[in-house]
Amino acid sequence: MRITNVSLDGDLDRFGGRALVVKTDRGTFNTPHRVLTSQEFQYKANLPFEPPLNNKISEVVAQFSRANWDKFMTTNGSFNSRLGTIEFFSDKMAYTLKRFYPQIPSDVVLDDTAIKQLLELQRMSDLDFITIPNLSSEIRDFEKIVTSFAEEVLSERREPLIYLDMELEPPVFRERFMTLLSHSDVDTDQIHTVGLIYRPIRENVLNYRLLWENRESSVFLQMSYIPREFTTVAASTMHLLQKWGIDSFSIRAGNYVSPKNSGREPLPKPDVLRRTKRFDPEPLTFRRFQTWIDRGDMLDCSCPICKDKTVDDFISIYDSESERYPGQIFNAANRLHEYYCSSDEFETSRDYIRTGELLEYFKTKEGLRKSDVEAPPSLGAWIE
Ligand SMILES: [Zn+2]
Repeated sequence: MRITNVSLDGDLDRFGGRALVVKTDRGTFNTPHRVLTSQEFQYKANLPFEPPLNNKISEVVAQFSRANWDKFMTTNGSFNSRLGTIEFFSDKMAYTLKRFYPQIPSDVVLDDTAIKQLLELQRMSDLDFITIPNLSSEIRDFEKIVTSFAEEVLSERREPLIYLDMELEPPVFRERFMTLLSHSDVDTDQIHTVGLIYRPIRENVLNYRLLWENRESSVFLQMSYIPREFTTVAASTMHLLQKWGIDSFSIRAGNYVSPKNSGREPLPKPDVLRRTKRFDPEPLTFRRFQTWIDRGDMLDCSCPICKDKTVDDFISIYDSESERYPGQIFNAANRLHEYYCSSDEFETSRDYIRTGELLEYFKTKEGLRKSDVEAPPSLGAWIE
């Protein structure tokens, strides 16, 4: 796949946010946009029926613990089985444009050998983007490395996706981001997209601000590793992030931790169900399923998971004994409900962005309004 054109759609205003039209030789898509991850795709297999998961872009997430990272680097079998997983998902999600995101522990140092191994893994599959992970700050010849990488990937008719960690020191982040943008012009025409690894906004605001300052650029910004909830007010992090001019968002993959391993007492099944978090698209926040019961709220959702169901229907349909851990299917159903509602919500905010009214949209969403107290004062103040 090749990206043939990236252009702004509609107005840019001071508040932030942007809408793009991205043209590729395999079709056109619009942003802001929620990406389908391989973990979300897996949830579908847990359900009693298989709802369609339409999307233009997908992300195959490879989760590594410290131990299986070491195994990946030292055994043939681990490489082979990781490749098998990528092939499995890229086959299932063949109708999407596929990118790869390795979720690697922070204490792993990616040296040349590790990067070579990750690149070979992707080359052997039919991914549309080839990812180069964040390079450590010590690397001085960034421009040389990324341009020769981009040239190679483009010659294979795929798109280079170079990741930058939002936690890089601001001068390093600036230098690298501006270098990548400088290779997006018509003369060089190498970089059409940049990958970003989520880190908290309040600790890395200078890097976020740089994205905002450059939101006129015709480079498609794809952010990965986004936590579901924004700390204090349980708002959806990715919806909050859109105002910085980031274009696509994918959620961080999580693992089930059994009570045995966490040192907690296992909860009875009904408690597990009631405590499961559910996405509320009205304020764009998460709250426990129990609150729907306590307040007598209707599900009031037409997504394929909830359509025509009451709270009681939802519990009885998605509660099952045949699961690997208590609440597995119930959790999958709530995650997919979130996926559908959040994807639709980006379509709504896109209309606001195109007419320069993202601020109005933020005002209507309680979760975004409250979270923004934590945003930089110079921008956040405009919300109140
Ligand atoms: Zn729903």
